[in-house]
Amino acid sequence: MIRGRFAPTPSGECHIGNARTALLAWLQVRQAGGEFVLRLEDIDRARCKPVYAKQMINDLLWLGIDWDEGPGASGPYAPYEQSERTHKYQRAFDQLNEEGWLYPCYCRRKDLKALANAPHGLLSEGPAYPGICRHLTPEERKIKAKEKQPSYRFALPDKPVHFNDGIMGEQFYPAGSGGDFVVRRADGFMSYQLAVVVDDAGMRMTDVFRGADLLDSTPRQILLYQALSLPVPRFIHVPLLYGPDGRRLSKRHGTAITIHNIRSAGVQPEKVVGILAYISGLIDRPEAVKAKELVSEFNLIKIPKQPVVLSMPMLRSLSHA
Ligand code: GLU
Repeated sequence: MIRGRFAPTPSGECHIGNARTALLAWLQVRQAGGEFVLRLEDIDRARCKPVYAKQMINDLLWLGIDWDEGPGASGPYAPYEQSERTHKYQRAFDQLNEEGWLYPCYCRRKDLKALANAPHGLLSEGPAYPGICRHLTPEERKIKAKEKQPSYRFALPDKPVHFNDGIMGEQFYPAGSGGDFVVRRADGFMSYQLAVVVDDAGMRMTDVFRGADLLDSTPRQILLYQALSLPVPRFIHVPLLYGPDGRRLSKRHGTAITIHNIRSAGVQPEKVVGILAYISGLIDRPEAVKAKELVSEFNLIKIPKQPVVLSMPMLRSLSHA
């Protein structure tokens, strides 16, 4: 039995890119007769708002996407909101720390930014951390601890990471890719990398389906699974949506990119699902279709490996009924 999930961060309105990832993740699980979970990644309370979480839930249901477990539906691995699960992250953090995987880091963001010559990380967040605090002596740590609360970084082991992505195929990351990464921020919040691994393992996910912007977080997460002796799931990364100008879809492409605005314009969910299914290679024409009508035909092989463009006529057709 496969178990998959959609794990949005409710820090803004659900846009058409989120909706597409959710639809495809849902179809993959439903086609395989598996269980689908909705998890709200609201760990960063300053950025996340309950109103967005509520809207996300309504928008997904409007599109015809349902879930077996999640907020509002009980389940064996509840709670399904990260803000309610911090004790689990703390436990994993303690385990990693006791086993020597972590070290305190006293570097400030602005100092790291100033390292103009740092080798560029493979990861989307910019230069790789050059390991400044990795080998501090206990005395040096004591002195630095007087100036600043540390973040904690995971010390990458000296080995490459390899995985076979369900859409993107074979992925290979040389040892040290991206540099040692933060698992707990200086303000005490656990990082996305740690929380997502604890939750995907704790919720018994077999398949992790998400946008390709997270592809290069995956080697980090695989190393965390291994350090915590947890089974590594299958990863499936779907290439992102781009606007007609070739730039990543965002507000600059007009208002018809949030589900809220599309609904307000009187557009039917079948029209949205039809366009999403068409650009994702599932149907031949952008015709109106119900999400559940796509289940039997779904196949990962059909999804293009390249970023997908939402054309001007499509964007226009989402702005009116
Ligand atoms: N919460 C993340 C986001 O909305 C996705 C996490 C994941 O799917 O691993 O970008």
